[in-house]
Amino acid sequence: MAGLDPALQDHGWAHKAPAHDDLELRVSPSGGAGVFARRAFARGEFVVELTGIVLPEAQVGPQYYAVKVGDDAWLCSTGETVDDFLNHSCAPNLGFAAGVARLHALREIAAGEELAWDYSTAMAFTAWSMECRCGASACRGRVTPFDELAPGAREQLLPWALEYIRRRYGGPHQSA
Ligand SMILES: [Zn+2]
Repeated sequence: MAGLDPALQDHGWAHKAPAHDDLELRVSPSGGAGVFARRAFARGEFVVELTGIVLPEAQVGPQYYAVKVGDDAWLCSTGETVDDFLNHSCAPNLGFAAGVARLHALREIAAGEELAWDYSTAMAFTAWSMECRCGASACRGRVTPFDELAPGAREQLLPWALEYIRRRYGGPHQSA
């Protein structure tokens, strides 16, 4: 594959690197895989959709990359598409600007930048957390479900969160 990061071979990810016109899989400064922009994106521009099959919680197994997209709905993927490799950041450059599982640029993004979204904006009302080493100056140290965030962080992230979270917290797209 043209332009494939040779370091991916060493990590055993080369066979996974999915083709995408605008995005590519590379080794992140964190040491894991990451997704990088192959071109610049304007603020507000659509970048990538989270893909997979939607399953109820009872059917979600450890073989999936899963994000919670509704009250009993998890978007599950098996690591075959580039969106599965997007890392979390506490200072993300992507977010769910329209409340659905499509990531838009939250600011101008230069070609070559690593892309990341805040996992707390698609995780709520479930037991889950992970240690964060995103390196942002505002790093929260631990990625938690949305409902476990401090009130100030919730307010800041709500405009980029999925619709079911906005509904619970009275976000800007609250339905009547
Ligand atoms: Zn962080």
